[in-house]
Amino acid sequence: MSNILDCAIIGGGPAGLTAGLYTTRGGLENVTMFEKGMPGGQIMNSSEIENYPGVTGDITGMDLMSPWPEQCQKFGLKHEMVNVTRITKDGDIFTIHKEGGETTQSHSVIIGTGSSPRRAGFSGEDEFFGRGVSTCATCDGFFYKAKEVAVIGGGDTALEEALYLAKICSKVYLVHRRDTFRSAPNTIKRVKNTKNIELVLNSSPFEVYGDKMGVSGLKVKNTNGELRDIKVPGIFTFVGNDVNNQTLLQEDNNFLCDMNKAGQVIVDISMKTSVAGLYATGDMRISAPKQVISAAGDGAVAALQVISYVDEKLNG
Ligand code: FAD
Ligand code: NAP
Repeated sequence: MSNILDCAIIGGGPAGLTAGLYTTRGGLENVTMFEKGMPGGQIMNSSEIENYPGVTGDITGMDLMSPWPEQCQKFGLKHEMVNVTRITKDGDIFTIHKEGGETTQSHSVIIGTGSSPRRAGFSGEDEFFGRGVSTCATCDGFFYKAKEVAVIGGGDTALEEALYLAKICSKVYLVHRRDTFRSAPNTIKRVKNTKNIELVLNSSPFEVYGDKMGVSGLKVKNTNGELRDIKVPGIFTFVGNDVNNQTLLQEDNNFLCDMNKAGQVIVDISMKTSVAGLYATGDMRISAPKQVISAAGDGAVAALQVISYVDEKLNG
C-alpha cells in the first residue's frame, strides 16, 4: 500500500465518521481518520438527542454515536488518535502535520473539525472552570444532584441542557441576556412548563465567586444595572461555539482555502472548497444547519466526491 493516503479525514464527529464510512465502503483502501479525542464529536456531550430521524426515545449523544466508529472500521477505516496542527498542500499532495512533529501525506482531505464551546467572558469563569463552571451537563450534572444550579444562554443547547438538569437538580436558574430565546418553539414551551426552572431574563453573568473548594454563587446583572446574587455550587455555560479552523491556518497567517468573516469554510453544494482535493463538512462550513443529520450528510457528499477525485487523479 502506498505511503500516500487516498484520503485523510480530519475530525471524527458525525461528519468525519460518515465520510469514513462512505470512502471506505465506496472502495478507497487507504483512508485514515485523524481524531484528537474519542470519536463521536460534540454530540457526545448531549444528554438528549432531538431531530435525528428514527430516534424516538430518550437516548444520549453517546448512545447515538457509540456504534459509528465500529461500523467504519469494518470497511477498513484506520483511526489515528492525534491532534492535527496544520494541513498544507504542496503541488497536488496534502501534508497532515501532527502534534509531536510527525506528518502524513494524502491525495485528498475531508475536514470536519466542528466547533468548540465558547466562554461567556465573565469574571471568575476561567478560574472556576472545571471546579463548578462547566460546559457539559451530561458530564457534570450528576455532581449537583438535588442541588441548585445556574444555566447561562438562550439557544437550543442552553434550553435543552436546562431541561436535562431540571430532572437531576432541585432547581435551575436559566440566565439569559434577553427576554426572547433562539431555541426551537417546542423547547421553549417545555422550559416554560417546567416548574423547577426559573427564568432570569435580561440578565448577564457578572461574576462567579467561591473558594478553593469550588463555586459558591453567581452574580448576574440585569439590563437596569441591578445585581442579583444566585447562590449555586454549579454553573453551566452554553453561549455558542467557535469554529475549529486552526488547522487550515498557514505559516503566512492566511488560510489554506477561502473562508468567510466568521471563520467558516466556504464550500459549494458538493462540499468542495476553493482548493482542489480539499472538502469541508459539518459545523465548520458556511450555512451549516448545525445538526448531526446534516453533518453526516455532508460527510457522505464529500466522500462520494473524493472517490471520483482520487480515481481520476490516480487512474486518469
Ligand atoms: P463535531 O461534532 O464538532 O466533531 C468534530 C471532531 O473533530 C471532534 O471530535 C473533535 O475532537 C475533532 N477535532 C477538532 N479539531 C481537531 C484537530 N485539530 N485534530 C484532530 N481532531 C480534531 N444536533 C442535533 O441534530 N440534535 C441534537 O439533539 C443536538 N444536540 C446538541 C447538544 C449539544 C450540547 C451540542 C453542543 C450540540 C448539539 N447538536 C445537536 C449539534 C451537533 O452536535 C453538531 O451539529 C454536530 O456534532 C456537528 O458535527 P461535526 O462532525 O461537524 O463536528
Ligand atoms: P447559539 O444558538 O449561538 O446560542 C448561544 C446563546 O448564548 C444565545 O442565546 C446568546 O444570546 C447567548 N450568549 C452568547 N454569548 C453570550 C455571553 N457572552 N454571555 C451571555 N450569553 C451569551 O448556540 P447553541 O445553543 O450552542 O446552538 C448552536 C447551534 O447548534 C445552533 O444552530 C443550534 O440550533 C444547534 N443545536 C441544535 C440542537 C437541536 O437541534 N436539538 C441542539 C443544540 C444545538 P443571544 O440570543 O442574545 O445572542
